[in-house]
Amino acid sequence: MSLVATVKKIKFVARWYLMYNARLVWLQARLPKDADKVCLVESDVAGLERRRRGAQAEIFDRVLKYGKLCAECGGRCCQEPVDRYTIFDQYIHGGLGRPLENYSGRIYSLPWLLANGFRHAVKRVTGIGKEPPPCRYLSPAGCRLKKEMRPMLCASWFCPKYLRSISPEDMLLLARPLKEIENIHREIYRSSRNPNGNPPPA
Ligand code: SF4
Ligand code: SF4
Repeated sequence: MSLVATVKKIKFVARWYLMYNARLVWLQARLPKDADKVCLVESDVAGLERRRRGAQAEIFDRVLKYGKLCAECGGRCCQEPVDRYTIFDQYIHGGLGRPLENYSGRIYSLPWLLANGFRHAVKRVTGIGKEPPPCRYLSPAGCRLKKEMRPMLCASWFCPKYLRSISPEDMLLLARPLKEIENIHREIYRSSRNPNGNPPPA
């Protein structure tokens, strides 16, 4: 790989693996804890939902050819019982009048992330620790949810191994929908801080 391509790749990983997830952890930590206090008006929610579906469809299309990576690792990302639907998803689904049955903020909570990372590290080094039950949506044939209905996190998360395998060209193409997913989170955050239920400030 050329030096330019390597630098591009490092920048992408820093932007969409380290910083992206750190920003979502930060945004969630500052969200009101009560998701029932949805401040998004209906027209905003419909717009966010359209954009969410578009961005997720684009991401899933772009990574279709890398599907074997997840098959090879046995779909490790789906092997945790923690909810992938977060409060951000709930703001959209609740705003559309079909609230999610299950969601939680645990996956973007720093204490949980640290404890879970520690648990994995101990298991890797010592072999001690039970296999956790998988995600509630996992079936023997894979995820039971249609791609467009999956949590935003499931569309926008890539592990380091995955990121190493994506070509620089595909990374460039992925940046746009990932940015869109991040913008959606930011707009939800801004609206949630607005007690009047007005559209999020531009
Ligand atoms: S993103 Fe990585 S860890 Fe997750 S299922 Fe795919 S290859 Fe496995
Ligand atoms: S919702 Fe589907 S893709 Fe996401 S972790 Fe669960 S089984 Fe995997």
